[in-house]
Amino acid sequence: MKKVRVRFAPSPTGPLHMGGVRTALYNYLFARRNKGVFILRIEDTDQKRYVKGAEEYIINALEWCGIEVDEGLNRGGEFGPYRQSERKDIYRQYADILLDKGFAYYAFDTPGELEEARKENEKSGKTFTYDATTRENMSNSLVLSEQRVKDKKDRGVPYVIRFRMPENEILVFNDIIRGRIEVNTSTLDDKVLFKSDGMPTYHLANVVDDHLMQISHVIRGEEWLPSLPLHVLLYRAFQWDKPEFAHMPLTLKPDGKGKLSKRDGDRLGFPVFPIEWKNPETGETSSSYRESGYFPDAFINILAFLGWNPGTEKEIFSMDELIEEFSLERVVKAGSRFDPEKAKWFNQQYLRMKTTNELMPGIMKEMEGRGLEAETAYIAKVLELVRERMTFIHDFWEHSWFFFIPPEKYDDKVVKKRWKENSPAMLEEMIVVLESIIEFSSAETERVIKEWIESKEYGMGQILSPFRLAIVGGSMGPHLFDIIGLIGKKETITRLRKAIDSI
Ligand code: GLU
Repeated sequence: MKKVRVRFAPSPTGPLHMGGVRTALYNYLFARRNKGVFILRIEDTDQKRYVKGAEEYIINALEWCGIEVDEGLNRGGEFGPYRQSERKDIYRQYADILLDKGFAYYAFDTPGELEEARKENEKSGKTFTYDATTRENMSNSLVLSEQRVKDKKDRGVPYVIRFRMPENEILVFNDIIRGRIEVNTSTLDDKVLFKSDGMPTYHLANVVDDHLMQISHVIRGEEWLPSLPLHVLLYRAFQWDKPEFAHMPLTLKPDGKGKLSKRDGDRLGFPVFPIEWKNPETGETSSSYRESGYFPDAFINILAFLGWNPGTEKEIFSMDELIEEFSLERVVKAGSRFDPEKAKWFNQQYLRMKTTNELMPGIMKEMEGRGLEAETAYIAKVLELVRERMTFIHDFWEHSWFFFIPPEKYDDKVVKKRWKENSPAMLEEMIVVLESIIEFSSAETERVIKEWIESKEYGMGQILSPFRLAIVGGSMGPHLFDIIGLIGKKETITRLRKAIDSI
């Protein structure tokens, strides 16, 4: 196999959404797996669609995900520049080669004339395509005399350069994921390769750059599959070896109906962007994985499984494991439905696997955000008691507040069900027992209290339910004795007294 060189080639038309990050990820995994090079190239030939900040966003998003660029934008390399707008001069000479060899032609049709041709066709129920059946009636260098073409150009009449699509030819080529593809060229139109603003279109710039940058495999979204025949024909016209192609399946909305779009996230209640994006025009921010509390490694795992699977039961893969296992052959053809609940599940698995040290900075920030102070060692102990219940770091407080502050109110339903007439007296009695315990640990308090309950022939629930109610204000939380072991004797008794007085 030739040296693997792959590229991620986003257009800076806005923030990258998760489908875009997945494209980058599959390219990255493929490059690493094959000891190749992962290149970042910016395709910004469409200046009208350029969005300020998008390039920076792409770089930051990849960095957060741990997808390292080897060559390209911000990294340099011997095939630069890596921003297409800086390669403007390169493309024209390639358009000229196609013109010289008769694979392309000048077209002078004005927007008005094209509109007219469209309307004319509509009248007879047809859609206009600029192709072998219509090009003879249009204003282009295939019809006009050489002199007229020269005159128009000399006078500065705007023109585009179009590809001359062969007629009725069966094109056959291969895609690593989709297999053999056959297309009749008569179903394709004479695409514009070079625009009147002096810029190439995506097709020309993309093919020229992939060739000049020695790209070995083009791995991109399925939405580019319709462009592939033209790209294959361009390689043929230039007499260049073409790269291998792999078109990845679409990412679908959770209900499977249609492609997951940038607008879906906030509408359907889950993030679609990797990191926060602030719309430079409206100032609006869209929800994102990082800001929603996802770990980057969980996010990567989620994306990896959107269209790929290892063929085993294993679902948790670190980046290194993905690199080890990834292959394009195991990428599926069918669109992959995004499951937001499964995404949360992945994050929960990662949260469980992380060490306390890894989680502590995030937890401390949560605490500070609430203006609360506690010793790190204490917080770490609480974390160990509640981490199984958490999906995100920001769930910490919801599951642990009673380790830090006493309950302000008591859950009505629990009071009705569990707080009996004799509860205050029994708890008073228990307080005396608690007071006598010297080593106020979880294990010791549990042993003493349970022995006491048994000796008195009380029911466990009769004591422990009102006890918990007094400590946490309801029926939730981890093992009761773990809680009191941490909050300590004094606080435990204070809470019991308060409950006796106020319920
Ligand atoms: N600039 C294209 C995009 O925005 C790249 C497609 C390709 O990889 O060829 O997705």
